[in-house]
Amino acid sequence: MALLDSDAYWQPGLETQSRAAWRQLQLDLLRDHLRHAYDGSPYYRAAFDAAGVSPDQLRNLDDLRRFPFLDKGVIRDRQQAAPPFGDLVAVPERDIVYISASSGSTGAPTASPFTAGDFDDWIDYEARQFWSSGLRPTDRYAHALNFSLFVGGPCVLGAQKLGALSIHAGTLPSERLLAVLRQFQATAIWTTPSYAWHLGETAQKEGIDPKRDLAVRRLFVAGEPGGSIPETRARIEALWGAEVYDYYGLSDIFGSCAGMCVEKDGLHWAEDHILVEVLDPETREPVAEGERGELVLTTLRKRARPIIRFRTGDIVSVTTEPCRCGRTSLRLTGVHGRLDDMLIIKGVNLFPSDVEAVVRQDTALTGEYRLVVERIDHLDRLTIEVEHAHGFNGHPSDLRDRLRRQVKAATGVGAEVALLAPDTLPRAVHKAKRVDDRRAHVWS
Ligand SMILES: [Zn+2]
Repeated sequence: MALLDSDAYWQPGLETQSRAAWRQLQLDLLRDHLRHAYDGSPYYRAAFDAAGVSPDQLRNLDDLRRFPFLDKGVIRDRQQAAPPFGDLVAVPERDIVYISASSGSTGAPTASPFTAGDFDDWIDYEARQFWSSGLRPTDRYAHALNFSLFVGGPCVLGAQKLGALSIHAGTLPSERLLAVLRQFQATAIWTTPSYAWHLGETAQKEGIDPKRDLAVRRLFVAGEPGGSIPETRARIEALWGAEVYDYYGLSDIFGSCAGMCVEKDGLHWAEDHILVEVLDPETREPVAEGERGELVLTTLRKRARPIIRFRTGDIVSVTTEPCRCGRTSLRLTGVHGRLDDMLIIKGVNLFPSDVEAVVRQDTALTGEYRLVVERIDHLDRLTIEVEHAHGFNGHPSDLRDRLRRQVKAATGVGAEVALLAPDTLPRAVHKAKRVDDRRAHVWS
């Protein structure tokens, strides 16, 4: 076996251990964690009892499938039933030192509590994650995520723990953020993919060339599927002259739970903190490795509020194949979209990210797009709104035909294409709204 480059890893022994060692570690942690949840949380005690399962019955990791699911609705309901933090909490309140709160876009915000130990575990993991993406103590890292109650905020402490000079930028207006990046010559930044794109375009409009005038060489992105769509990543990378690394986070667990290493071949999971299941959304049985299914997560160490079998609503695929970086953790190979965003058009499953991959690789287009779905005479009709690039001088009908063919080949769905002038579609500052499904209105 080749000698490991010890500088490549934050915790070499853990990060490169065999799959069997990962499974054994997870089983040991899970046994203890289920027992802690059952003993400390009135909700879990009642839920396990109602399902007729006990932490002592866990003989192997597959036995977890006998335990009940959890979803956002349950977390919200239990918080309302036992305010302010809900009865999934498994420690006395005096042990809780930090809470984040989710954005509340689909209801009342839910709080995610941490003990001091949970918080330290989390920040240590973030440092490991940043390290795997190539961040080093010589970097200057600008954290351009919201600090207000948002679980993404404290991730900056991971960069700081790693030894990078950490700039707590937060959500500054674009012009200010660009000035900060330029003044301090930041070498790395974290934003959403849409915002990375918007910020790069804003820089160019202001006469700043991100490649020449700024020192950013690493962009960490999260919050939207774009960072895992190679065509989207490639365009952001070309705009910035930088590497883009996708991260996946969940407000109810950690700011980042998985992230890309320097190989950028999927996102490595923090498998010593989180157990991953990928299930068929209908049957709730595991899908074969590599197949698309719903991501279901179980914490393994979080004492304040254990999360057991949380249905994320995210449709993903994973692999346990070894990565070229030498890490052996399970990798997320695709976040295809939200279960809620999945469109069924003429019986075919379609995610906005499928169309994005096609739109972003065509240089005759700006890369912005929107999907409009209508039902006309009882038939679904998908229209893809795109913008031609500045200076486009080809035939619009050729471009429309080409896009129609490519979308059909990639997704199996026939679509109309509406070609718009540049800067017509709304630009996203945070999460982009890509779908306008008007079918429900036809029947109302
Ligand atoms: Zn890797």
